[in-house]
Amino acid sequence: MGTKGRDIVGVDLKELVKLLNKALADEWLAYYQYWAGSKVAVGRMRGIVAGELEEHAKEEFEHAEKLAERIIQLGGTPLINPKQWEKEANCGYDEPASPNTKKLLEQNIKGEQCAIEVYRKILKKVEGKDVLTAHLVLEILEDEVKHEEDLEAILQDMKTKVE
Ligand code: FE
Ligand code: FE
Ligand code: MG
Repeated sequence: MGTKGRDIVGVDLKELVKLLNKALADEWLAYYQYWAGSKVAVGRMRGIVAGELEEHAKEEFEHAEKLAERIIQLGGTPLINPKQWEKEANCGYDEPASPNTKKLLEQNIKGEQCAIEVYRKILKKVEGKDVLTAHLVLEILEDEVKHEEDLEAILQDMKTKVE
């Protein structure tokens, strides 16, 4: 990003890059948690659950890409060592130790709820001060809200008795 582009960012650049890098760490872990979950899933509605987890994995990967691009625009460096992911993440990694589809859904719903909170906070910080980051974060937040909704809907179907 050029001089003027950086000039119009009304928040501390270093602090902002740090926040975005922490979100980036979350996205990589979310990506992997979904990806691994989609592989090991066993139990009720396996095909549906595995398919949804796989789709979400791809979307978390896209979030990571968008965040990394913005970090570079802001003059920062995206985290370059996977060892930093667990250390920097807000939400952490919830190992899909049980392949049970219901457990996987519950685990990932928890992750989405954490992600929603993280992006809400970042949005609050940049709103009215850095329109481009605000726009990007809003886009991601929309996806996370949808993710939670999708997983909760499947869980609800799973709990609905077939008459
Ligand atoms: Fe995400
Ligand atoms: Fe998500
Ligand atoms: Mg979905």
